[in-house]
Amino acid sequence: MHTDNRTIHSHFHFSFKGILLLLLFFLPACQHTPPGGYVPPARIHYLDGIEKDINTYVPDPRFPDDPFVLETVREALKGARERNGGIGACLVREATGEVLERGRNSQYEPYFRSDLHAEMDLLDRWEERMRLTRSRDPREATYLDPRAAEGIALYTSVEPCPMCLTRIINSGIKKVYYAAPDINGGMARRFDSLPPFWKGMAEGMVLEPARCSPALADIAARLFQPMHIPGAKRK
Ligand SMILES: [Zn+2]
Repeated sequence: MHTDNRTIHSHFHFSFKGILLLLLFFLPACQHTPPGGYVPPARIHYLDGIEKDINTYVPDPRFPDDPFVLETVREALKGARERNGGIGACLVREATGEVLERGRNSQYEPYFRSDLHAEMDLLDRWEERMRLTRSRDPREATYLDPRAAEGIALYTSVEPCPMCLTRIINSGIKKVYYAAPDINGGMARRFDSLPPFWKGMAEGMVLEPARCSPALADIAARLFQPMHIPGAKRK
């Protein structure tokens, strides 16, 4: 009797192990996005809806940041369409409202680049342009401190993450406005947790929600979660 019980138990144990092995074998295949550019129809439909909202949105004069946030969500949409993160950014000369540079998340396509968040993409191109137009030699006429960013504001569709915020601080840009909050990953709300060196470097920095309409902030939030299908429960 006792032996029989043990046999049953060991048989069950073997089956359980077998299922576990099968799961381990197949689970990675389920978790990764299939390669080759496949975008689920629901996602295309979802992005089409957002594109329509962007194209029909008229900047509201009550919200001074509307034109710039609109730029960031246009970039975010491009990012999402390219199968990257739906986050966009732009750099603005405040006195004139001129958009100096644009950027979008390019982390996954055309190949994986862990550094290419929207703000990083923007700063890479901005700094490359500055490299070509500014001299670092104080004796030359085009000399400018590489961190001189007076009167320049960075807009992003989503609250910056720790990597991007420290990069922005290092870049010398002192004004950052974001459209949608990132409750789980945003560093603006955790500014006080920055190491003392970075906090010191960020002294006098403006890091605030953009003064944009709630409708635009909602578009930014929807692009940030492109897999969210309308009607589904939202966090
Ligand atoms: Zn980031």
